Amino acid sequence: MQSDQANIAKLLEVPAGKPRLLVVDDQPINIQVMHQIFAMQYQVFMATSGQRALDFCHKTPPDLVLLDVVMPGMDGFEVCQALKADPATSDIPVIFVTAHTDAAQETRGLDVGAVDFISKPVNPAVVRARVKTQLTLKLQSDLMRKLVFLDGLTGVFNRRYFDQQLAVETARSQRSRSPLALIMLDVDFFKRYNDHYGHQAGDDCLRDIAATLKESLRRPADLVARYGGEEFACILPDTAFEDALLIAADLEKNVRLRNIPHAASQVSNVVTISLGVAGQPGNVASDADKLLALADAQLYCAKNAGRARVCGDQLT
Ligand code: GH3
Ligand code: MG
Ligand code: MG
Repeated sequence: MQSDQANIAKLLEVPAGKPRLLVVDDQPINIQVMHQIFAMQYQVFMATSGQRALDFCHKTPPDLVLLDVVMPGMDGFEVCQALKADPATSDIPVIFVTAHTDAAQETRGLDVGAVDFISKPVNPAVVRARVKTQLTLKLQSDLMRKLVFLDGLTGVFNRRYFDQQLAVETARSQRSRSPLALIMLDVDFFKRYNDHYGHQAGDDCLRDIAATLKESLRRPADLVARYGGEEFACILPDTAFEDALLIAADLEKNVRLRNIPHAASQVSNVVTISLGVAGQPGNVASDADKLLALADAQLYCAKNAGRARVCGDQLT
């Protein structure tokens, strides 16, 4: 269990660098004060109006916003409301920083979705502590959101995420008339592997294979998921069928070269996989179900043809 968690943490790709803080205030002097307080620990960005703050949050979402209430044009309450109303920015925690500290203001701030309220002039130690608390909560909830889409055993994406992304990518392929490829793959004689080496070794083997698949796919848009049991699936956006066949051949080779002994296999003395490739040409109407069925049929074909190999076909 411990190693599962470590594995998942490693695979989660925690964003590199310091957490990102956006300070919004129409008075540059206030921004400067905040910058001095936070520059050591965080990446500090600034916006001098509500509209600029919203633009920034849309383009490059920060991990937390420190928001002035009284500003010309759009005030802080409106900015917070706009952030919370949009799913793309609603997860960004907002802390109000204001000279007005009456209960009505504070209540209004919390009503529009702020997580905290800090009064100006700020006390550096207090504001640092409160920001730290909210950032910790934010990073934890980001992690939880990602965990929902990860396979607990292998750390690659799970079936739920795969289904969702296949729908997203087929729609994208349809819109941009770009090719899309899907690879379904299955471990050969895995029942015998479990019977021979034990279920624990079987689990380790699946982790190894998942890691190999992940390492083998280099493009950021490519996705590996555990489809179920000892079956994995790869979505390759913007990838022509011929290229997908080459990639599948690479996956087959890389798993074989991992040299995981499999004394009970009938095709090799190491663990091997069979793969089915389905191509969705850019000029053919996209259909996630058809693509999946074709990849499945091609996987079946690879099994029937002797295993440890690739079969593939394109939708027409
Ligand atoms: P084929 O070459 O035709 O794919 O044969 P196979 O034995 O791999 O296929 P079969 O579907 O008969 O068996 C799959 C085995 O995979 C049976 C099941 O116990 C094992 N398996 C499925 N999920 C897990 C898992 O999470 N951990 C382990 N250790 N084994 C698993
Ligand atoms: Mg199998
Ligand atoms: Mg199977």
